[in-house]
Amino acid sequence: MTSSEFVEANTKYSATFEKQPIRAKNPLIITCMDPRVQPYDQLGVKIGEGGIVRNAGGSAQEAINSIVVAQHFFGTTEIAVFHHTDCGMTKFTTEWLRDTVKKANPGRDDVARTVDGMDFHHITNVEESVHADVKFLVENPLVKKGSKITGWVYNVDTGKINQVADVLV
Ligand SMILES: [Zn+2]
Repeated sequence: MTSSEFVEANTKYSATFEKQPIRAKNPLIITCMDPRVQPYDQLGVKIGEGGIVRNAGGSAQEAINSIVVAQHFFGTTEIAVFHHTDCGMTKFTTEWLRDTVKKANPGRDDVARTVDGMDFHHITNVEESVHADVKFLVENPLVKKGSKITGWVYNVDTGKINQVADVLV
């Protein structure tokens, strides 16, 4: 699949398109960009329901800007942290990625400074990473009081989800 295939695929999609309303402001799902993760199918979310923020690993820390927008502009009150097994973010560390970027840019102090200031939120244990992100949200003063925060692990081998956290802020 490349972006050059978009127009052909979209021509088919739009041929039977029916405009959908926004049906629900919840939940906001924070999940990984891994192509095996498809929250709409795996969690039964329909177009027009909730919202999905995707990044490497499904980091709530990286997603905090979008979470604040969703809560204060859109009215979202439920946040679901949805990580998965065999995540690429378990296969390296922030330090390794910083070194890799620096080696790819020899002599570039600006690159080194910039990447040294970044935390890529690598994952050592997927269940622990969900708990850490839930804790981050619970303790974050920007997350609205009264919010429901749930944490989930999706198993890419079985297609099954496992709930590991359910907290009211
Ligand atoms: Zn992942």
